[in-house]
Amino acid sequence: ESVSNIIAAGEVVENPASMIKEMIENSLDAKATMIKIEVFKSGVDVKISDNGIGMDKDDTLLSVERHATSKISKKEDVFNLKTYGFRGEALSSIAAVSKLTILTRTKDSSVGYKISSYGGVVRNFEEVSKNVGTEVEVRDLFYNTPARKKFLRKTSTEYSKIREIVLKEALANSDVSFSLDLDGKKILQTSGNGMENTILELFGKSVLKNLKKFEYGYLGNVEILRSTKDFLFTFVNNRYVKSLTIERAIIDGYYTKLMKGKYPFAIIFYNTDPKEIDVNVHPSKKIVKFSNDKIVYSEIKSAIDDFFYYADR
Ligand code: ADP
Ligand code: MG
Repeated sequence: ESVSNIIAAGEVVENPASMIKEMIENSLDAKATMIKIEVFKSGVDVKISDNGIGMDKDDTLLSVERHATSKISKKEDVFNLKTYGFRGEALSSIAAVSKLTILTRTKDSSVGYKISSYGGVVRNFEEVSKNVGTEVEVRDLFYNTPARKKFLRKTSTEYSKIREIVLKEALANSDVSFSLDLDGKKILQTSGNGMENTILELFGKSVLKNLKKFEYGYLGNVEILRSTKDFLFTFVNNRYVKSLTIERAIIDGYYTKLMKGKYPFAIIFYNTDPKEIDVNVHPSKKIVKFSNDKIVYSEIKSAIDDFFYYADR
């Protein structure tokens, strides 16, 4: 599978949720410790503000243009990078299908910049006063691509996809404060004060109380079994992914504790050499495979076995 396939399948602006993911990852790349996401009109209007390093004048002018170069060359680089950004095309792709405004300032500049574009064409550029950080405002997503706009689902569906994305980013980055508002209503908010506070803020006291730390993250006890697999959160090298191997290891590890139709609540962080990871990108989810599948399975399975062995004594 070629790098370009992997990248292409990761479609930048498939829907508002995938767009928001890209924008969050840009804020993380900019070392933001606070990311605020406000969404209106099913995700057609979105504003993301962060307190990251911001952009200087040249970067601001370039940001809505398609970059010529790609920062990655090998497949494993996707999982190797310190930063999320590698295509240099997210923002320009978003700009091309919306009315975009960016306000930004770096700490080295006394003034901020504001750039506006319609369908990727710059309309206005000016100096503004702004605190350090970046605010990206997307309006009328897909206004000039009616065929894509037709693919938007109903508001509740788009909103639940957005919530999922932000929740997973917040879990993967528990040292960053996230907040998500949907149509002016606060949906989630984290403080950025570490994993346990983040779990508390995202899932509540009853979940935190029933989760225990183990070698690869947190395992929920039988009090918080769920009727879907949606609460098996798997992060490989700190990115949210779906892994059938890890899923199997967890479910097998819980075997004696599971009743029919019930699944564990578990948050797994597994780190490995990027060379061992094969990203097989599904249109909506990142499904990974490991070349050392059996090892991954037995490491996680036996850690869970050990955990329950000591927990049950
Ligand atoms: P990439 O992330 O691959 O570099 P993007 O299209 O996502 O490409 O973003 C283009 C550029 O815009 C980034 O490289 C960065 O310089 C700048 N940028 C985008 N969002 C932010 C942000 N929130 N804070 C600072 N810089 C940003
Ligand atoms: Mg990016």
